[in-house]
Amino acid sequence: MPDVAPLHPLRADMIGRELAVAWSDGRESFIPLEKLRRACPCASCGGEPDVMGNIERPHVSYGPGSFDLREIRFVGGYALQPVWNDGHDSGLYSFRMLRALDENAAA
Ligand SMILES: [Zn+2]
Repeated sequence: MPDVAPLHPLRADMIGRELAVAWSDGRESFIPLEKLRRACPCASCGGEPDVMGNIERPHVSYGPGSFDLREIRFVGGYALQPVWNDGHDSGLYSFRMLRALDENAAA
């Protein structure tokens, strides 16, 4: 079967210390919130992981609430926008990036 529809999450929920994502291909991802935050792709946090999941970035300081999610929003049909408890909400995680975070974790 050709993969015609772009892979996308059917839902994303906070479960404990993880973000649970149910994908359109039936896979479920469980991404630790700390890992998710450290991979924040916004300009001030420094970009997204490379294809191996390695993240190189300038020093970023985290505070209380940095690894706690307040809510998660779907943005424009291509990304998720987490709102962190420290108020940080400028990171847009593309679906492709989210999936890569999970697949690297499972390898
Ligand atoms: Zn950020």
